[in-house]
Amino acid sequence: MPRIAFIGLGSNLEDPRSQLQRAFAEFDGLPETRLVARSSLYRSAPMGYLDQPEFVNAVAKIETTLTPQALLQALLQIEHQHGRERTFRNAPRTLDLDILLYGDAQLHEHGLTIPHPQMHLRPFVLQPLLEIAPNVLIPGIGQAGMAFERCQDQVLEMLPDVA
Ligand code: AMP
Repeated sequence: MPRIAFIGLGSNLEDPRSQLQRAFAEFDGLPETRLVARSSLYRSAPMGYLDQPEFVNAVAKIETTLTPQALLQALLQIEHQHGRERTFRNAPRTLDLDILLYGDAQLHEHGLTIPHPQMHLRPFVLQPLLEIAPNVLIPGIGQAGMAFERCQDQVLEMLPDVA
Protein backbone atom coordinates (compact mmCIF):
# COMPACT_ATOMS: atom_id res chain seq x y z
CA MET A 1 0.00 0.00 0.00
CA PRO A 2 1.44 3.43 -0.90
CA ARG A 3 2.56 5.59 2.00
CA ILE A 4 3.10 9.31 2.26
CA ALA A 5 6.61 10.27 3.36
CA PHE A 6 8.30 13.61 3.87
CA ILE A 7 11.95 14.13 2.94
CA GLY A 8 14.09 16.99 4.28
CA LEU A 9 16.67 18.42 1.87
CA GLY A 10 19.66 20.63 2.62
CA SER A 11 22.69 21.87 0.68
CA ASN A 12 25.38 24.51 1.12
CA LEU A 13 27.88 23.65 -1.62
CA GLU A 14 28.05 23.81 -5.43
CA ASP A 15 24.93 25.80 -6.26
CA PRO A 16 22.58 24.62 -3.50
CA ARG A 17 19.37 25.73 -5.19
CA SER A 18 20.03 23.59 -8.27
CA GLN A 19 21.15 20.67 -6.09
CA LEU A 20 17.71 20.71 -4.44
CA GLN A 21 15.77 21.17 -7.66
CA ARG A 22 17.60 18.23 -9.25
CA ALA A 23 16.84 16.13 -6.17
CA PHE A 24 13.09 16.83 -6.43
CA ALA A 25 13.13 15.48 -10.00
CA GLU A 26 15.18 12.47 -8.90
CA PHE A 27 12.61 11.56 -6.21
CA ASP A 28 9.99 11.41 -8.95
CA GLY A 29 12.28 9.04 -10.89
CA LEU A 30 12.69 6.54 -8.03
CA PRO A 31 10.97 3.18 -8.42
CA GLU A 32 7.50 2.89 -6.88
CA THR A 33 7.65 6.57 -5.93
CA ARG A 34 6.00 9.81 -7.00
CA LEU A 35 6.70 13.38 -5.97
CA VAL A 36 3.42 14.81 -4.62
CA ALA A 37 4.51 18.27 -3.47
CA ARG A 38 7.59 20.29 -2.69
CA SER A 39 8.08 23.34 -0.56
CA SER A 40 9.74 26.58 -1.54
CA LEU A 41 13.48 26.87 -0.97
CA TYR A 42 14.58 28.55 2.27
CA ARG A 43 17.84 30.14 3.34
CA SER A 44 19.15 29.13 6.80
CA ALA A 45 22.23 29.81 8.88
CA PRO A 46 24.57 26.87 9.64
CA MET A 47 24.17 25.17 13.03
CA GLY A 48 26.87 23.34 15.00
CA TYR A 49 29.87 24.14 12.80
CA LEU A 50 29.42 27.84 11.97
CA ASP A 51 32.37 28.60 9.67
CA GLN A 52 30.70 27.49 6.44
CA PRO A 53 28.29 28.89 3.82
CA GLU A 54 24.61 29.30 4.63
CA PHE A 55 22.27 26.45 3.73
CA VAL A 56 19.34 26.12 1.40
CA ASN A 57 16.62 23.84 2.77
CA ALA A 58 13.33 22.43 1.56
CA VAL A 59 10.92 19.55 2.17
CA ALA A 60 9.38 17.15 -0.35
CA LYS A 61 6.22 15.09 0.02
CA ILE A 62 6.33 11.74 -1.79
CA GLU A 63 4.06 8.76 -2.19
CA THR A 64 5.93 5.46 -2.20
CA THR A 65 5.60 1.74 -1.75
CA LEU A 66 9.33 1.42 -0.95
CA THR A 67 9.97 0.26 2.60
CA PRO A 68 11.66 2.81 4.91
CA GLN A 69 14.98 0.95 4.55
CA ALA A 70 14.69 0.80 0.74
CA LEU A 71 13.81 4.49 0.67
CA LEU A 72 16.85 5.31 2.84
CA GLN A 73 19.14 3.35 0.49
CA ALA A 74 17.65 5.19 -2.51
CA LEU A 75 18.23 8.57 -0.82
CA LEU A 76 21.82 7.67 0.11
CA GLN A 77 22.37 6.77 -3.56
CA ILE A 78 21.03 10.18 -4.67
CA GLU A 79 23.31 11.92 -2.12
CA HIS A 80 26.22 9.93 -3.55
CA GLN A 81 25.32 10.95 -7.12
CA HIS A 82 25.46 14.58 -5.96
CA GLY A 83 29.04 14.07 -4.81
CA ARG A 84 28.23 14.03 -1.10
CA GLU A 85 31.32 13.38 1.02
CA ARG A 86 31.10 12.51 4.71
CA THR A 87 33.95 14.31 6.44
CA PHE A 88 32.86 15.45 9.92
CA ARG A 89 29.62 16.12 11.77
CA ASN A 90 27.77 19.25 10.55
CA ALA A 91 30.29 19.66 7.69
CA PRO A 92 29.36 21.48 4.48
CA ARG A 93 27.55 19.23 2.01
CA THR A 94 26.34 19.18 -1.59
CA LEU A 95 23.16 17.35 -0.59
CA ASP A 96 21.74 15.99 2.64
CA LEU A 97 18.52 13.98 2.56
CA ASP A 98 16.61 12.88 5.66
CA ILE A 99 13.46 10.82 5.97
CA LEU A 100 11.43 13.06 8.27
CA LEU A 101 8.15 11.13 8.36
CA TYR A 102 6.95 7.85 6.83
CA GLY A 103 3.18 7.55 7.24
CA ASP A 104 2.55 7.45 10.98
CA ALA A 105 5.50 5.09 11.57
CA GLN A 106 7.77 5.25 14.59
CA LEU A 107 10.91 3.25 13.85
CA HIS A 108 14.31 2.81 15.40
CA GLU A 109 16.12 0.03 13.55
CA HIS A 110 19.33 -0.64 11.58
CA GLY A 111 20.62 2.92 11.65
CA LEU A 112 17.25 4.45 10.76
CA THR A 113 15.12 6.53 13.13
CA ILE A 114 11.70 7.81 12.05
CA PRO A 115 10.44 10.44 12.78
CA HIS A 116 13.84 12.04 12.26
CA PRO A 117 15.00 12.65 15.85
CA GLN A 118 15.89 16.34 15.48
CA MET A 119 13.11 17.45 13.14
CA HIS A 120 10.84 19.00 15.78
CA LEU A 121 13.72 21.27 16.94
CA ARG A 122 14.75 22.57 13.51
CA PRO A 123 13.06 25.61 12.00
CA PHE A 124 14.70 24.82 8.65
CA VAL A 125 12.73 21.54 8.62
CA LEU A 126 9.49 22.72 10.21
CA GLN A 127 8.90 25.87 8.18
CA PRO A 128 9.07 24.16 4.74
CA LEU A 129 7.19 21.13 6.10
CA LEU A 130 4.33 23.33 7.34
CA GLU A 131 4.18 25.14 4.01
CA ILE A 132 3.12 21.90 2.26
CA ALA A 133 1.48 20.07 5.23
CA PRO A 134 0.07 22.65 7.66
CA ASN A 135 -1.75 20.12 9.86
CA VAL A 136 0.85 17.36 9.90
CA LEU A 137 1.49 15.39 13.10
CA ILE A 138 4.92 14.22 14.22
CA PRO A 139 4.31 10.81 15.86
CA GLY A 140 5.45 10.89 19.48
CA ILE A 141 5.78 14.68 19.44
CA GLY A 142 2.49 16.25 18.31
CA GLN A 143 1.48 18.98 15.86
CA ALA A 144 4.40 20.24 13.74
CA GLY A 145 2.87 23.72 14.01
CA MET A 146 3.18 23.65 17.80
CA ALA A 147 6.80 22.49 17.52
CA PHE A 148 7.52 25.40 15.14
CA GLU A 149 6.01 27.87 17.63
CA ARG A 150 8.44 26.55 20.23
CA CYS A 151 11.34 27.44 17.89
CA GLN A 152 10.58 31.07 18.85
CA ASP A 153 11.25 33.67 16.23
CA GLN A 154 13.57 31.79 13.86
CA VAL A 155 11.65 32.50 10.66
CA LEU A 156 13.61 31.75 7.48
CA GLU A 157 13.82 33.72 4.26
CA MET A 158 12.10 32.11 1.28
CA LEU A 159 14.23 32.05 -1.91
CA PRO A 160 13.21 32.15 -5.56
CA ASP A 161 13.76 28.97 -7.58
CA VAL A 162 16.58 28.98 -10.11
CA ALA A 163 15.47 29.15 -13.75
P1 AMP B 1 23.59 12.38 7.74
O1 AMP B 1 23.72 12.31 6.25
O2 AMP B 1 24.77 12.95 8.43
O3 AMP B 1 22.27 13.05 8.09
O4 AMP B 1 23.47 10.88 8.26
C1 AMP B 1 22.91 9.89 7.45
C2 AMP B 1 22.77 8.61 8.23
O5 AMP B 1 21.87 8.81 9.31
C3 AMP B 1 22.18 7.51 7.36
O6 AMP B 1 23.20 6.71 6.82
C4 AMP B 1 21.28 6.74 8.29
O7 AMP B 1 21.88 5.53 8.71
C5 AMP B 1 21.12 7.62 9.51
N1 AMP B 1 19.72 7.97 9.74
C6 AMP B 1 19.03 7.70 10.87
N2 AMP B 1 17.76 8.10 10.77
C7 AMP B 1 17.64 8.68 9.54
C8 AMP B 1 16.54 9.28 8.86
N3 AMP B 1 15.31 9.39 9.42
N4 AMP B 1 16.76 9.77 7.60
C9 AMP B 1 18.00 9.66 7.04
N5 AMP B 1 19.07 9.10 7.63
C10 AMP B 1 18.89 8.61 8.88
